Parts: sequence; C-alpha cells; structure tokens
Amino acid sequence: MALKLVSRSQWGARAYLTPNGATPYSGPRRGVKLHYLGTPYSDRPHEQCAAYIRQLQAQHMDGNGWSDIGYSFAVCTHGYVHEGRGLKRRNSANGNTTLNEQDYAVLMLVGSTGLTKPTDEQLHGARDAIEYCRKEGPAGDWLGGHRDGYATACPGDSVYAWVQAGAPRPKASTPEEATVALSDDDAKKVAKATLTIDGVIANPNPATAKKNTHISLATAARNIEIVTRRTETRLAALQATVDKLVSLIGSGVDTKTVVAAVEKAIADAVIKVDIDVTGPGAS
Ligand SMILES: [Zn+2]
Ligand SMILES: [Zn+2]
Repeated sequence: MALKLVSRSQWGARAYLTPNGATPYSGPRRGVKLHYLGTPYSDRPHEQCAAYIRQLQAQHMDGNGWSDIGYSFAVCTHGYVHEGRGLKRRNSANGNTTLNEQDYAVLMLVGSTGLTKPTDEQLHGARDAIEYCRKEGPAGDWLGGHRDGYATACPGDSVYAWVQAGAPRPKASTPEEATVALSDDDAKKVAKATLTIDGVIANPNPATAKKNTHISLATAARNIEIVTRRTETRLAALQATVDKLVSLIGSGVDTKTVVAAVEKAIADAVIKVDIDVTGPGAS
C-alpha cells in the first residue's frame, strides 16, 4: 500500500508562525505516538476532509495559540495522510516539549463518540504514516499512544489497542474466499481444460458442457479421478517392475522378457481401473 500523502498546500494549510513553528527536532525520534480527536466525529466524504484539517489547524493556532497544527500527520478515514508539522518540524501534540521531542504525533480522525473505531483504510493510512516516519524521519520502532507518559484518554481504547498490538495492517478480505462462486464462463473454461487432461479422457457428452455447467463440472471432477487412479496404478506397476527386476537379478531371465511382462501388467492394471471407475455403479 502506497502512502497517500496530502501536502500542506493540497489541504490548504495556513502558513505556520515563526520562529516557533519552524523549530526542528534536536535528534532522531524514539518512535510514533497515536492520537484521536477526543470529540464527537462522524465519517464524511473525503471531499470534506481537507476542510476538517483546516479547522483543526485554526483551533490550534487561534484557540490554543500554537504556531501551527499540533500533529505531525493526520490520517482521515479514507487512508489519506495529511502533512501537519511533517518529518522535520517538532510537533506540539504530545503534551510537553520533552514528549514532543521524543516521538512523532500521528492523529487519526476518530472520535470519542460517533466514529470511534478506525476504518480499514485508515489503519492502512496510519501504518503507512508510521513506516514513512521510520524510513524518512528517522523514527525508531517504539509505538504508543498519547496516554503513554501523559494523563489523557487519547488515543481512545480502539486506537490504543491497535497500536499496542504493533499497529498491524487489517486483514484483507481474502479474494479466494470472496470469489468462491465461479462465473459460468470460468466454470466452462475449467470444464473444458479438465476434459482434455492427459489427452485420454473424453467428455461422455460434450453437449452438456454447454448446457449445464454443473453437470459438466461433475463430469470433469470424475475424469480427474480417473486420471489420478490411472497414475497411481502406473506408479504401483512401476514399483512392481523394480521389485521384479531385483528378484530376477542373476536368475538368467533376459531383460526383454521382464519388460514385456511388466508392460502387460501395467496395461492390465490400467484397463482394470477404467472398468472400476467408469463402469456402471462406480462413484
Ligand atoms: Zn492526543
Ligand atoms: Zn478523507
């Protein structure tokens, strides 16, 4: 998953105040701290996310008197990572200067009521942000929440449990499971392919493949079983060949006779399997 970074100009950030807003980190970061909004929040179309981030910035600058939005990055429910103070400028969200120096501050747009659990896209976005901080920051492996070392409920229980678990990417809804049902076209392709396995199996009624996919698939499955049984039988016969050759070593019987006998045994075995499997009443 590629980082979906929204630059300050893309979300329409106001210029930060100097000199405070330009304060760089004095050393590398230990890791990343997660935050949530701590206010009611409801999900909304992504077209409205930039405006929401601008509003947060306004609160921090005009309400708190800060020099910029406090967070390093802010991740919306659509997985976009909005650049706040970014990688180089020290955040002001972790509680005090020491804590701000220590870790990056990544906000997830998750509320105390309303939308209280991050979306899957948002978890991916936050994971992307963490990896970005580690790779480009640099930040160390440490992960935690605002509440670590500071008295606050932030980042809420849901985000905190996730970050405590190592901020894993959400499990993908597995396409294999989601698409168990074959389309008719695919099923026909499978049937056609299996009907010609080994070049020896013929569809007893090719017309059914066109008319009724289920019947043709059942036929195909049975044909695979026949091929499998034939293969097993051939292997068993080959083993018998080896055994027989071993027992005949030194007995004066010539190789041609042995081979002919073994070939006949294999042919007989395969015919027997065909009768067993394809005969009436076989299952
Ligand atoms: Zn916080
Ligand atoms: Zn969004």
